[in-house]
Amino acid sequence: MTGLLEQADTGLSEAGWEALRAAAREAMAHAYAPYSGYPVGAAALVEDGRTVSGCNVENASFGLGLCAECGLVSRLQATGGGRLTHFACVDGRGEPLVPCGRCRQLLYEFGGPDLVLETPAGFMTLAGMLPQAFGPEHLTTGRTAADGKASDGQVADDPASDDQAS
Ligand SMILES: [Zn+2]
Repeated sequence: MTGLLEQADTGLSEAGWEALRAAAREAMAHAYAPYSGYPVGAAALVEDGRTVSGCNVENASFGLGLCAECGLVSRLQATGGGRLTHFACVDGRGEPLVPCGRCRQLLYEFGGPDLVLETPAGFMTLAGMLPQAFGPEHLTTGRTAADGKASDGQVADDPASDDQAS
C-alpha cells in the first residue's frame, strides 16, 4: 500500500510517538470490553499541545458499543476543541491498531486529511486511509437555497475545506 510516511516526515519525534502510544495504552487499561475481550485505547495530539484519549466501551446491547475514538473526540470537545494532528491506537497487547471505518470518519471531522496516524504498517495520513472522504466542506457545496440559512459559519471556516475544494 502506498502513502506510508517516514517517521521523520510525521512532524513528531520518536519520543513524541512513544508518549502518544503510552497515552493510548493508559486509556486501553480503562476499556470496558467484557463481551469481546478486546480492549482498545486511542490517543491523539491536539494542535495546541494537549493530548486527548479514549477507550472502547461496550454494552449488553452489543450494537451500541462505542469505539475508543468516540471517547477521544468527546474528550477533545469537552476540553476545549481544536484540531487533531497525530493519532495512535492500540489493542490489548499495546500494539498499534488501525481505526475502523466509522472512526476514520470521526477522526476526519477533527483532523482532516493531514492527520498523521500510526498503523501496523507504518505512519500514514488520514487522506491515505480514507480516500475521497466526505467532510464538512461538502455540506457547504451541496446545499440548496432553502437550507443555506442553516449554516452557522463554522463549517466554512474549517481549514480542511481548502484541501478538498476541487
Ligand atoms: Zn471504530
